[in-house]
Amino acid sequence: MHVERVIDLALSDEQVAEMIRAFKWPRAITCPRCGSANVKRNGKSDKRPGVQRYLCKDCGKSFSDVTGTIFERTRLRLRDAMLVLYLHFKLGLSALAVSRETGVGYKAVSNLLSNARETAGELLRFFQAWEPG
Ligand SMILES: [Zn+2]
Repeated sequence: MHVERVIDLALSDEQVAEMIRAFKWPRAITCPRCGSANVKRNGKSDKRPGVQRYLCKDCGKSFSDVTGTIFERTRLRLRDAMLVLYLHFKLGLSALAVSRETGVGYKAVSNLLSNARETAGELLRFFQAWEPG
């Protein structure tokens, strides 16, 4: 029997992207290569819903909300990735339990979690800064 997802996130991909942006760039959006704040919006990502792209006007580097974050290394939608991370790192569910409760495939869950392990401390600070509603 196929089990539907039990837990969902009451946030859109756009809202999750906004949270990532606010955490990553509390003051101004800056270029990951040269540090310049002289950047312009450069359209939305066509592969990742909700992700904004940018172009640095000083060095020409193209980057996005997820560049340099663990969200860059997963193909999951932002809201699914965020839910997986929250259930594991904040609530302590195992990868198997997360997969079962969310309906996200076990392999995608375990890949994301193992990539995220080294930044677990930063994730916990992120969740602390996150006050939904
Ligand atoms: Zn730059």
